[in-house]
Amino acid sequence: MNKKRMIENFLEMIKIHSPSNNERVYAEYLIKLLKELGGEIYLDEGYKNYGGNAPVIFAKFKGNLSGEGVTLAAHMDVIEPALGVNPIIENNIIKTDGTTTLGGDDKAGITSIIETLRTIKENNLNHRDIFVLLTPCEEAGMLGAKNIDWTSVPSNMKPATNMLVIDNAGRAGLIAHTAPSKYGITFTFNGKKAHAGIEPEKGINAVCMAAEAISNMKIGRIDEFTTSNIGSIKSTFPTNVVANHCVVTAELRGHFEEKILEMLNSYEKSCKNAAILFGGEYSIEKRHDYPALKPKDDLKFAKEFAKIYEDIDVQSELKIIGGGSDSNILAKEGFNSIIIGVGMYDVHTVNEYLVIDDLFKTTEAILKYITQ
Ligand SMILES: [Zn+2]
Repeated sequence: MNKKRMIENFLEMIKIHSPSNNERVYAEYLIKLLKELGGEIYLDEGYKNYGGNAPVIFAKFKGNLSGEGVTLAAHMDVIEPALGVNPIIENNIIKTDGTTTLGGDDKAGITSIIETLRTIKENNLNHRDIFVLLTPCEEAGMLGAKNIDWTSVPSNMKPATNMLVIDNAGRAGLIAHTAPSKYGITFTFNGKKAHAGIEPEKGINAVCMAAEAISNMKIGRIDEFTTSNIGSIKSTFPTNVVANHCVVTAELRGHFEEKILEMLNSYEKSCKNAAILFGGEYSIEKRHDYPALKPKDDLKFAKEFAKIYEDIDVQSELKIIGGGSDSNILAKEGFNSIIIGVGMYDVHTVNEYLVIDDLFKTTEAILKYITQ
């Protein structure tokens, strides 16, 4: 590994602006780089379905070691504001000047992948089959991963089942293997309009109906594995009108689908009871944002990687996380992902920073895993 080259590569990449839906310039940079490193490339153009402009990049580096291949995955898009990043290096960290995000999420992950490939090529190291999967639009509802047309992916380019996703906030050594399923919910309440001062008794107030329904819902932490939240309640009438329309948005996430469905049913019941009480109407719209991520091999892969960290004196920790990512979407296609820490902190904010040592350590672990 060449640490200096790695930092230079990171600094070069964070200066390429690549917000969700507009990653093309960065994707072209990466395609060129992966080709130079000897990768066979396949591009998926799923972005045409959602108005983005960058392909999902598949790259393959045929190995000469037996054993299962491994996929290295990361996302190309970054959270705004990310134009004109002015990085400041202070001892062991890289941060911004406080006006932009750093883009370490997830360019630190991509830096790690590139340095792994460079080191292998430069030293002619024996390695297993390596597949690289770089997605656009992860931060905007995982649209890149969701829109991959798997039926068109050539069979020789289909990534290996075991996938190392280098996109976890926190230190090197963290290995996330389980993440919740998530539903977005929209509750709509319809009442009856009336003049609020002259004849309020003729109206049915949809805001009050929503309030009644919400007050009977269990919101927040439901159990160890399940959470819910109300995000907005919207009704915009002047105060002299009995509001006849109110829309509430919420989410439910959890590690067990049955429990989520049980909560959805209980929410529906609360809405129904409120509608009966008020003589109004309700409707519920559910959107399954992503399925749960669960290990498909009884944690074999996660534990193998934990051992690699321990071998290089990095304390490993297997983790269950509360947020979804590309891994949740890819799990549907049969991929077995672990999401590893790469030293990024305070991501999605202008205080984001990267701990250089953690970036090195995770890269070292990946290199060791692939070449043994
Ligand atoms: Zn990320």
